[in-house]
Amino acid sequence: MPKLACPCGYIHNLSQIPDAGWITIRDEEFDSISTSGLGSEEKIDALYSASGSIYVCPSCERLMWAKKGSAEFVTYSREQPN
Ligand SMILES: [Zn+2]
Repeated sequence: MPKLACPCGYIHNLSQIPDAGWITIRDEEFDSISTSGLGSEEKIDALYSASGSIYVCPSCERLMWAKKGSAEFVTYSREQPN
């Protein structure tokens, strides 16, 4: 069962489809794919192929982002407001 551990200890469960994560795609790529002549299923496949994913920790609000084509999640923590 694929899981992703936040540094705070929260465990994201990646085994559900769909899961609680977000899909990221560059606007240019989204536009290119959405205006292409592909059929709807092929468009969805192309959109997923062009996408990365973000998980937002419900406990500490850190973002864990795997960019397009990468299996590595980079963690970003929220800065404190001034
Ligand atoms: Zn966390």
